[in-house]
Parts: sequence; C-alpha cells; structure tokens
Amino acid sequence: MDAEVFRAWIVSAAGVIEANRDHLTQLDAAIGDADHGINLARGFTAVLGALEAAATPPATPGAILTMTGNTLISKVGGASGPLYGMAFRRAGKALGDAADVDLPALSAALDAALAGVQQLGAAREGDKTMVDALAAATRAFGKAIAEGASQDDALAVLADAASAGAEATVSMQALKGRASYLGPRSVGHEDPGAVSTALILSALRDAARAGR
Ligand code: ADP
Ligand code: MG
Repeated sequence: MDAEVFRAWIVSAAGVIEANRDHLTQLDAAIGDADHGINLARGFTAVLGALEAAATPPATPGAILTMTGNTLISKVGGASGPLYGMAFRRAGKALGDAADVDLPALSAALDAALAGVQQLGAAREGDKTMVDALAAATRAFGKAIAEGASQDDALAVLADAASAGAEATVSMQALKGRASYLGPRSVGHEDPGAVSTALILSALRDAARAGR
C-alpha cells in the first residue's frame, strides 16, 4: 500500500465521517455532550485542507498519517481530538519513511496507534471507548495476517472486528470519558468514539481495495 492508498484512506475517512456526522453526534447526545460528529467532521475537513495546502505534499504513508494526526490535534477539541491525533501520529511514526507498507507494517502501525491512545487516555478494553473498537480490530488483524490472509481479507477482518467491537460497547458501562459521569445510565448506548473508529477503519479497507 503506497502513499496514494493512504491519501485515499484519509479522503474516504473524511467522507464517511461527514456522512455520519449527525449519527455520531446523536450517539454522543445520548451519553455525552452531542459534539462528537461535529468535532470529527470539522477535524477531517481541516485534514483535507492541510493535505491540499501543503507546499510539499506528504509523499509517504507515514508522512500522510503524521500530518493527519497533527491537524486533528490542533483542530479537534474534546477528548477525541488528542486521542485520534495521537493514534495517527503514532501510526505515522511507526511507518517511518517507507514508500510502501505491507500487512505486517500496517499491523505494527495500528498496534502503535492503540498503544498511544491507551497511554494518553488510560482506557482499557471494556471501558466503553474507542479502545474497544481499535483493540478488537488490531487483534483480529494480527491474527488474520498470521494465518496468511490476503490483504483484502485481512482488511475486511479489521473493519468487521472494529464494528463488532463498537457494537459490544452497547452493553458496557462507561468508565472513561464524559460518558462515565452517567454511571450505570451509560449502559444501552453505543459509544460514539468506538463507532467513529469503526468507520475510519472501514474507510481503510475500502481505500486499499480500490487502490489495488
Ligand atoms: P468529549 O467527550 O470531550 O465531548 P468527543 O465527544 O469528541 O469528546 O469524543 C467522545 C469519545 O471519546 C468517546 O465516545 C470515547 O470513545 C472517546 N474517549 C473519551 N475518553 C477516552 C479515553 N480516556 N480513552 C479512550 N477514548 C476516550
Ligand atoms: Mg462529546
């Protein structure tokens, strides 16, 4: 997967976040402060602007993800901006200067993203956050690669596991973030950040499929 695929991923992620802006905001209205879709849509719009406006466009997958992370950190308020910013920056750093990214390198980058989110936010699986989608996805992806899955299949497993991880947050009580203020009343709602993570990873699956 080359820089074109990663650029296409970010463009596709921006599109899917924009298309789901109101849905994400409604999920956040139930257990938060009704701004998650607005926050992320604004952030990804800024990312698209940054990618286009750059005097020297980022030429490697790592540089694209690093620019994405930096922009999200500077443009998105709330908890999710710094967390997603950290995730993309750590993934970008893990990819280094490579012009082409294979499945093991992508797996390592996603693991680094998860580690960054957990370092910053201290959420564990089961706390009803984006970690529930990201951790399930990275684990399933690593397993699929170890079992010799094709790129398409491994990325389908990644996206499906993220969605399942997001759905699993419905029955959880939030222990981190704003939703935790609700205590047991947070049960019964899907976590907005877990849903946006699943959307962003589904965009990766689609961009890689289209880029072959
Ligand atoms: P805020 O809660 O500040 O309004 P957003 O609404 O943009 O920020 O994002 C909320 C999402 O952020 C939650 O649904 C959850 O997935 C994620 N989140 C919040 N706190 C944490 C944390 N400590 N670790 C991981 N994810 C978190
Ligand atoms: Mg919010």
